[in-house]
Amino acid sequence: MAATLLDGNKIANEIRAETAAEVRAMSAAGLRPGLAVVLVGHNPASEIYVSGKVKACEALGIYSEKHTPPESVTTDELLELVQDLNHRDEIDGILLQLPLPPQVDSKAVLMAVDPAKDVDGFHPMNVGFLSTQRPGLVPCTPAGIMEILKRSGIPVAGAEAVVVGRSDIVGKPTAMLLIHQNATVTVCHSKTRDLPGVCRRADILVAAIGRAGMITREFVKPGATVIDVGMNKITDRAEFDKFFCGNEKREKAFVEKGSTLIGDVHPNVAEVAGALTPVPGGVGPLTIAMLMVNTVKAARMRRGSRMPALAGRR
Ligand code: NAP
Repeated sequence: MAATLLDGNKIANEIRAETAAEVRAMSAAGLRPGLAVVLVGHNPASEIYVSGKVKACEALGIYSEKHTPPESVTTDELLELVQDLNHRDEIDGILLQLPLPPQVDSKAVLMAVDPAKDVDGFHPMNVGFLSTQRPGLVPCTPAGIMEILKRSGIPVAGAEAVVVGRSDIVGKPTAMLLIHQNATVTVCHSKTRDLPGVCRRADILVAAIGRAGMITREFVKPGATVIDVGMNKITDRAEFDKFFCGNEKREKAFVEKGSTLIGDVHPNVAEVAGALTPVPGGVGPLTIAMLMVNTVKAARMRRGSRMPALAGRR
């Protein structure tokens, strides 16, 4: 039986609607949440991501502003910009679109962001808050994965969860969130022995690797929930055919655009998994939705008592 597809767009829309209601109440009280996005230079992929984030703010009523320093920007100039944003009360979230140019000390700039405004959840203070289960800002993609599981009614407590990938932005925080929800968690990486065997133990398998279609059906226990975080662009015809031969809808889009997006999970996993996030339309939409949630959360945590009380807030 084919896996149930977990519709990330639908879940993201639910979260956006809830967040928009919260933003309306806060704005009515004169405390409209605000996000500042910093985009250095002209990286086409970064420009697309940033425009998606600014549009999402507009749709939800969140104030947003975009800062676009030139590619030649120095570390000191970026530090000055970050300090300025740190001090402005109407800015609740600061997002530095990565990667920064090579002459910039990225770690120093990321460290300079006020942890209370670190809506990406990358600052070591927020990493520490997450690991010790204190209130803080949680990275958006891992938070989105947990929303997919929760809102799809997939039991996490007691489940065997395997996370493939140990990056600071996806693998590790996802593992941490799963542990906090009482899953039994194994984290795998490029040195893991018998990766298919370890993955086959999983009731919940999270693939955050960055390798097109690497997780095949041999890695998946029948009936498991598979969360595909990967976003890999395919432009090569032979590679396209390897994964999507006979898929007319994909074929049409591939011919029109000259590329298609594939996750880390092979399409044949749909034949064995119980539930599966598609790519595109799975984890991706949740990442931006959770950025909006984090901006509102940052506003609530920092401006605290000045905010109206709302039922059901996170
Ligand atoms: P990353 O920093 O490159 O980390 C990749 C991880 O995968 C590493 O831990 C690496 O192991 C592991 N890995 C690589 N090859 C492997 C192999 N053959 N077997 C087992 N493990 C292997 O990547 P990331 O930033 O976490 O992103 C992962 C994927 O998610 C990418 O495709 C990225 O585009 C996508 N992504 C999507 C979203 C979204 O919104 N949907 C957000 C963020 C990222 P080592 O540590 O041993 O090197």
